[in-house]
Amino acid sequence: MTHQPKYKLASRQWKGNDTVIDVRGCQIGGDELFLIAGPCAVESEEQIDEIASFISNLGIKFLRGGAYKPRTSPYNFQGLEKEGLKLLKQVSNRYNLGIITEVMDLSLLDTVYPYTDILQIGSRNMKNYHFLKELGKTDKPIMLKRGMDATIEEWLLAAEYLLLGGNEKVILCERGIRTFDSSNRNTLDIAGIALAQQLSHLPVISDPSQATGNRELIGAASKASIAGGADGLMIEVHNNPKDALSDGPQSLYLNQLEDLLPDFEKIATAMGKTCSWAKQPEIINA
Ligand code: PEP
Ligand code: MN
Repeated sequence: MTHQPKYKLASRQWKGNDTVIDVRGCQIGGDELFLIAGPCAVESEEQIDEIASFISNLGIKFLRGGAYKPRTSPYNFQGLEKEGLKLLKQVSNRYNLGIITEVMDLSLLDTVYPYTDILQIGSRNMKNYHFLKELGKTDKPIMLKRGMDATIEEWLLAAEYLLLGGNEKVILCERGIRTFDSSNRNTLDIAGIALAQQLSHLPVISDPSQATGNRELIGAASKASIAGGADGLMIEVHNNPKDALSDGPQSLYLNQLEDLLPDFEKIATAMGKTCSWAKQPEIINA
């Protein structure tokens, strides 16, 4: 007798083939490696414009940026709120970029909804079950961060709440869990990515930024994630990380992101994935 997991709709037993989510022409969970880059938080028009312009020049199709930020300290920058959402929309239109941003609370859903292509549920909200039930009734793709103290089973049960609401466009995001070792901000669970892929048909992406807290480790953590079978990466990048209002130490410099892309492509290719963001080599006619 095969083991029946506690979740049903999220399981491979329920649906054997991978869920592939089409957003603005990107196929999340399919053959391509899905790449999202952007700052932890939207800080100003100049900041988001410079970052958006840079990543779009690299061929990256999705921009991240928090407008409402879940900060541990109430004295830290809380986000530009509605103004941040408007700035995201502005650069989305200017550079033809998809947007992902966090909905921190149910009371903000109607505000955030029109400004984003993917709704992000933060790690701290993964166990907010009433919130999950309500978000499951929406029709936009949802990226569900793994709770920092959540088991894989709890994470997939949280996804089950969304699926039960009728929303089938759920993307899982591993962002590191808390362990005894605080040398890294969190511990990136690479085997957890692989296990989630085995247990569930849902796409799984990796957030090496929250996982490591350290820009010098983003390359290794990203490459390991791709090799571990992740369907994509969400990476924090900033035009001036030293002065970032949120998560500066883990934010890549713009050129660091650019320098990593060829390695991402090599590993993605080895894993049988294509990179829509990668420039096709120019064909020179002799
Ligand atoms: C973030 O993506 O900036 C963030 C706050 O993520 P998490 O919910 O994983 O901490
Ligand atoms: Mn962050």
